[in-house]
Amino acid sequence: MQNLASKMEERLPQELLSFLRLAGEVAQAQGQKLYLVGGVVRDLILGRPNLDFDLVVEGDAPRLARQLARASGEKVVVHHRFGTAKFHRGDLSIDLVTARSETYSRPGALPKVEPGEIGDDLFRRDFSINAMAIALSPASLGELVDPYRGRVDLEQRLIRILHQRSFIDDATRILRALRYEQRLGFQLEEATERLLREQKSMLDTISGDRIRHELELILKEEQPERILYRAEILGVLQELHPSLKGNGWLAEKFHQARRISPPDPALYLSLLLYRLTEEENERLLARLNIVGELGRNLRQVLRLKAELPSLADPALPRSGIYRLLKPYSPTAVTACSLASDSPIIRSHLELYLNDLRYVKSCLDGEHLMGMGVMAGPGLGRILEALLEAKLDEWVSTKEEEEAMVRQWLEEL
Ligand code: ATP
Repeated sequence: MQNLASKMEERLPQELLSFLRLAGEVAQAQGQKLYLVGGVVRDLILGRPNLDFDLVVEGDAPRLARQLARASGEKVVVHHRFGTAKFHRGDLSIDLVTARSETYSRPGALPKVEPGEIGDDLFRRDFSINAMAIALSPASLGELVDPYRGRVDLEQRLIRILHQRSFIDDATRILRALRYEQRLGFQLEEATERLLREQKSMLDTISGDRIRHELELILKEEQPERILYRAEILGVLQELHPSLKGNGWLAEKFHQARRISPPDPALYLSLLLYRLTEEENERLLARLNIVGELGRNLRQVLRLKAELPSLADPALPRSGIYRLLKPYSPTAVTACSLASDSPIIRSHLELYLNDLRYVKSCLDGEHLMGMGVMAGPGLGRILEALLEAKLDEWVSTKEEEEAMVRQWLEEL
């Protein structure tokens, strides 16, 4: 039996370690066994930071959580209905759940859940590297529970499913496998890759919300383009929509996107969808149940893409560029500027993003009324005309704007 107590000492903050030890003692006093499980065990062994601590107790998580909150003085939120509890300590979140077994009635269905032992709880997990636990009970503190040889797979840098039906039971694991593979610089183990290729159509059994969630997780990774490229090579991306491509173009655009602003999943998604037709886009939005702001934004990207030729005129005035782009979200404009091949179109889009969209006239409605302009649609038109004049650099100061308004009023 391997013991990771010294690794825990070395890699976890003392205060957290004391909390975990206390949790193990309280559990033992209640006759329950407690384990640290999942991603945090993987990352502890790899020496990667992870602030999400998942604890699994063989017994009753809410009972342990209440007693542990009393013993530690920490605040806890208990969800009795789900048999779970959550401690928050600064950036750290510590989830406590009851060990459970899961069975799937049909592919993609939510599993039937029953209380179980740590072995059952590890068996329901996605990959061997995520199916390890560390005992926290005082007598066995630090002992590694590793029924699927996750530690060896970590050493050999392999992503391995636990059984042949894993992707059939829950095809979101197909996307998860690629995410871990690229994040960690690992490889799919041979049989896992074969099954993934054979069973990729099981993604059809997964709801739009769940697929979208996995896609969002992919887009939050440091280099999502690597995962999307791999998804194309394995034919997984095409399962989401046959026209999606994760090739070199996308990687280059993602790189450029990161150069101009912090990583933005909505911008990544806009670029991923950029090469679809509006009709294909609609089908994908429906499949992924993308609604609200994000859906509007993605539709705008393709609508603006269709309008881009009107931005190709080098003589287009600044106010004309502004008028054309004002209806579109900054994300849609940014996506089009990254995606467009035409230097002139790109320079107009960038001009809008960096300058024009921030331009304001000095005078407002109140000012104009003070100068004798009547409230009403005429006032709105003057404000618009002032903004255009400012955009086109005919006026720049308040005095020049006032003079222009006076001239208009005289001409009326
Ligand atoms: P990350 O670093 O991406 O947060 P994580 O391993 O903590 O990785 P979570 O998505 O938070 O991942 O899930 C926690 C654990 O739950 C995983 O380590 C894995 O053991 C298990 N798990 C999550 N999703 C699935 C799934 N679809 N099928 C089986 N097990 C899963």
